Amino acid sequence: MAELELRRRTEISMLDTARHFFDRAAEKLQLEEAIVELLRYPKRKLIVTFPVRMDDGRVRHFEGYRVQHHPVLGPTKGGIRYHPEVTLDEVEALAVLMAWKCSLMGLPFGGAKGGVRCNPKEMSEGELERLTRRYAAEIAPLIGQDIDIPAPDVYTGEREMAWIVDTISMHNHAQFMPGLVTGKPKVLGGSEGRDTATGRGGFFVALQMLDRMNLRVEEATAAVQGFGNAGSVFAQNFHEAGGQVIAVSDSKGGIYNAQGLDPQAVLQHKRETGSVVDFPGADSLSNEELLELECDLLVPAALENVLHRENAPKVKAKAIIELANGPTTMRADEILHERGIAVVPDILANAGGVTVSYFEWVQDRAFYFWSAEEVDRKLKQFMDRAFQRVWQRHEEAGVDLRMAAYMVAIDRVAQAARARGLYA
Ligand code: NAD
Repeated sequence: MAELELRRRTEISMLDTARHFFDRAAEKLQLEEAIVELLRYPKRKLIVTFPVRMDDGRVRHFEGYRVQHHPVLGPTKGGIRYHPEVTLDEVEALAVLMAWKCSLMGLPFGGAKGGVRCNPKEMSEGELERLTRRYAAEIAPLIGQDIDIPAPDVYTGEREMAWIVDTISMHNHAQFMPGLVTGKPKVLGGSEGRDTATGRGGFFVALQMLDRMNLRVEEATAAVQGFGNAGSVFAQNFHEAGGQVIAVSDSKGGIYNAQGLDPQAVLQHKRETGSVVDFPGADSLSNEELLELECDLLVPAALENVLHRENAPKVKAKAIIELANGPTTMRADEILHERGIAVVPDILANAGGVTVSYFEWVQDRAFYFWSAEEVDRKLKQFMDRAFQRVWQRHEEAGVDLRMAAYMVAIDRVAQAARARGLYA
């Protein structure tokens, strides 16, 4: 963690990175100044402080945030994270990334993000419920199914989304409004396929990328860093399609088998022991070594900034699928580009989650729910369409895939903003 902190300070912040890519894409798109000024900064940044009664009877104050980029295409959308190091800048950067991700996927949403600075690992369920309900009440004036729609993010999940929908509904004449938050339990209007959407969407993107590399999945290898929700689902999909997952890892370390691992068996081992390490029949390797393995696809699916200026020259993968948000620093991105290693950017590769969140919102608004097969078919359609748009822009504009994705995304928001005109 100390190393990561150092990198965070010495390389550039997530917010600076988000602005850098926006500025470059705006320049390439030759956006007019008024649109650049409008889209470069978020529309709303809310800071709240609020008290929570802890189990021992004391009252502690917490700070929380909600940032909305611009509701140009529709209501804003984005997750809520609980973490001791959440800052307003980080939440703003993530809100901006959400804006481009939603636009790229063709969703009728702007971007948003929320966070509370707290350590959920040290809090009881009762404390977390009181914190969540109070935070929800504080941000409620900005939340609604047509205004801004939260979702889970780091250390929040179905349970917190259920508390949020209940709290805000109770404040609204007790009228149950499932569409005001996504990632809910199915019994409260959650969607089929939401829990596997990010890994599944990343897998569809990987198939498209392999196709462009003239590789069949049955002859391809992948190394996956992070074996949580996103990484483990990706690995299972890749394996079931006939690909070889030669390495996976988690925070405790990694495992390697040149003949391929069985992700289902690894998941079982992780459930029993708490980690992928010591999986029978595999060699152990470190997280750093995993990133430098020879393979077709490298899939960072854990933390941000893991590919940086020191290890980017040593990456031997042919392409990178960014399931994690922001796994590649700006400098690493340049190095990988110079070395001819394709990077499928996070705003495309991990957009399956927000896409199925959109499906959840649509179903909630109609109170009519789709089968798992229907969700999966539509997810594939959306992921394939977005990849094709990015690939086409990449070829036409002669830019890398990240810049192509930013250009497609920003172009759509700019067109909508231009059509609506400036209410100045
Ligand atoms: P998760 O908590 O389920 O899994 C994270 C995994 O990373 C765990 O296996 C953990 O052990 C591992 N990890 C933690 N520290 C590590 C380290 N230092 N080295 C290697 N591995 C480490 O989280 P998730 O939901 O799978 O999210 C992973 C990434 O994907 C994050 O960047 C997240 O922002 C991004 N993402 C997730 C979703 C989603 O719907 N889950 C959507 C979009 C983006």
